[in-house]
Amino acid sequence: MDQALFYENAGISRETYDFCKEVLAQIEDRFKEIDAVSEVNQLKVMEAFRKAKVSEYHFDRSTGYGYNDNGRDTLEKVYSYVFNTEDALVRPQIASGTHAISTALFAVLRPGDEMLSIAGKPYDTLDEVIGIRECSGSLKEFGVTYAQADLTADGKFDLDAIGKKINEKTKLIHIQRSRGYDIRPSLSVDEIARAIKYVKSVKKDVIVFVDNCYGEFADVTEPTDHGADLMAGSLIKNPGGGLAESGGYIVGRHDLIELCGYRLIAPGIGREVGANMGVLRSFYQGLFLSPSVVASSMKCALFAAAVYEKLGYKVSPASDEKRNDIIQVISFGNPEDMLKFSRGIQSSSPVDSYVVPEADDMPGYDSKVVMAAGTFVSGSSIELSCDGPLRAPYLIFMQGGLTWQHCKYAIMKTVQEMKN
Ligand SMILES: *Cc1c(COP(=O)(O)O)cnc(C)c1O
Repeated sequence: MDQALFYENAGISRETYDFCKEVLAQIEDRFKEIDAVSEVNQLKVMEAFRKAKVSEYHFDRSTGYGYNDNGRDTLEKVYSYVFNTEDALVRPQIASGTHAISTALFAVLRPGDEMLSIAGKPYDTLDEVIGIRECSGSLKEFGVTYAQADLTADGKFDLDAIGKKINEKTKLIHIQRSRGYDIRPSLSVDEIARAIKYVKSVKKDVIVFVDNCYGEFADVTEPTDHGADLMAGSLIKNPGGGLAESGGYIVGRHDLIELCGYRLIAPGIGREVGANMGVLRSFYQGLFLSPSVVASSMKCALFAAAVYEKLGYKVSPASDEKRNDIIQVISFGNPEDMLKFSRGIQSSSPVDSYVVPEADDMPGYDSKVVMAAGTFVSGSSIELSCDGPLRAPYLIFMQGGLTWQHCKYAIMKTVQEMKN
């Protein structure tokens, strides 16, 4: 088979094809590592399904209050097995990752408590939740104070600084695993494990919360395997496997998950209520597919890193660095290349391939932003997508990719755009 011929018909020149083939040959071993991690996570998921005795009737729709929703409760068992926690809350009523995190923070923090973020400033959308940016209804307004220990210049936990900031008011430690849309590197589970051990040695009963967005199944263990008390994420990212159309999860200690149920629904009623409205099949099946989908996304990120390194751009993580999430940053240094890359991603998308991304103003940003996403689920970032602010150093944040085959084509398409 002359594969290049099929790519030629899809708009990829032989020159681009050969160049990408050469790059791929150099990262074959890293692909094997990604596959090995994915296999371990698939086993973990399979074992959870088996242990929870998942059956077809668990996919049934519930309506109204959703009392005695066996499918919902069993899915939460599956999540607690996968993440090795006492309990889990997995709901379509959790509207986003930010909602999951906010629910967890408001569930456990009380007036007079302090929350300490030890991986620098948390994800932007939490500014208003915490009260870093003034907002009515913030934790700050409810008398919860905030402290922060920044990462060191090389992106590691600064244990000395953390130790100094833990005081009698410190109730919760916040750790963000993924870089999100920051230039700092993502944190490995090993580093997080060491930090958890340290903060617990300073203050035994402190609650460790981990924002696990983009991190699920990137490694063979999760922060909850190493003592994190509470952890949250979005189902339109990794654990939804591309099938979940909305939703979020919180996993952790039983008493804390109960509080999260009280916060999400209502004190006293809690998690007994919440109809599934027919989403459960997609939540189960999405979780089942997730280890494989995450592997595709990680291959996509690695392939993009290797290709753009070779083309002379700065990338993070580099192609030979350990990967702790599905995000790839490419530094283009000029707006034209950034736009060309985005157009390559958009034009190779299954949805809205004919749309041409342009930089535009966005609420909350002080410069124009370019985005490319042709996704089945609106805003889903486990599907291949990219965005970045149009200002120096012209960074693109790329993430997701449901299948490696699609990712490979998409990255080749971006290279083709650059050459045209
Ligand atoms: C995406 C993300 C969030 C917020 O999730 P939304 O679903 O966009 O609200 C929080 N933290 C990190 C690290 C993320 O990547």
